Amino acid sequence: MSKAADFGALRGSLTGQMLLPADSTYAECCKIFNAMHDKRPAVIARCSSTADVVAAVNFARENDLVIAVRSGGHSVAGLSTCEGGMLIDLAGLKKIDIDPEASTARAGGGVLWGEFDAATQQHGLHTPGGRVTTTGVGGFTTGGGYGWTSSKYGLTCDNLISAEVVLADGRIVTASEHEKEGRLQVCKRPAIDTHSLRTPAANVDAVLDVLLEDLRKH
Ligand SMILES: Cc1cc2nc3c(=O)[nH]c(=O)nc-3n(C[C@H](O)[C@H](O)[C@H](O)COP(=O)(O)OP(=O)(O)OC[C@H]3O[C@@H](n4cnc5c(N)ncnc54)[C@H](O)[C@@H]3O)c2cc1C
Repeated sequence: MSKAADFGALRGSLTGQMLLPADSTYAECCKIFNAMHDKRPAVIARCSSTADVVAAVNFARENDLVIAVRSGGHSVAGLSTCEGGMLIDLAGLKKIDIDPEASTARAGGGVLWGEFDAATQQHGLHTPGGRVTTTGVGGFTTGGGYGWTSSKYGLTCDNLISAEVVLADGRIVTASEHEKEGRLQVCKRPAIDTHSLRTPAANVDAVLDVLLEDLRKH
């Protein structure tokens, strides 16, 4: 952080919560699955909409804050937290839309696999996902994803059709097979855990939701 950031301005531009170290729920929100990574972000943006993520990314970029993006918080390497930067917590993005006709499901950036499975199973649908119910769909899918049924149906990222992405410059784009920029491939980074956001905010993309193909038709 090269200058004093005006966190009040950020708070005013979020519909979700903004947490600073003095806030009572801050310490709880710092925790990730691997407790070895006990980091203290300067600010936590608990986003509840796409506009919140855009506001958080823009604020981090303008204030030279390193960004960590969190979906389910299962990164073993601790990549979904950071020291002194901004944590963009997507846990509030819980929307799940199922299209039984098309056999597709769209999940918000904070959806966990247990929630996703419960929603798709109501329609008799399935996509290979995490073996543990509390792993995030966002980090799992964009990291590859090998689940119980992958030997039959492939990696989760193989079933990724499109993703809404907030780019580091604050633009919202849809990554899909139909766009020439090839962003969908960037969203499929198997086994690298590359949202290694110990990079300047300028290099960071946040995947907001993912549209997964259901495998019943295979
Ligand atoms: C208990 C446990 C069980 C696991 N089981 C399996 C398994 O069965 N199969 C398997 O393949 N792997 C498994 N893993 C590994 C796990 O899939 C990866 O660590 C995955 O990246 C976790 O995703 P997450 O969203 O829960 O984690 P997070 O820690 O939130 O995110 C992981 C990484 O992805 C980034 N990220 C998360 N969401 C987004 C987003 N929306 N946009 C941009 N970047 C994002 C984060 O910044 C971080 O770098 C397991 C891990 C644990 C701890």
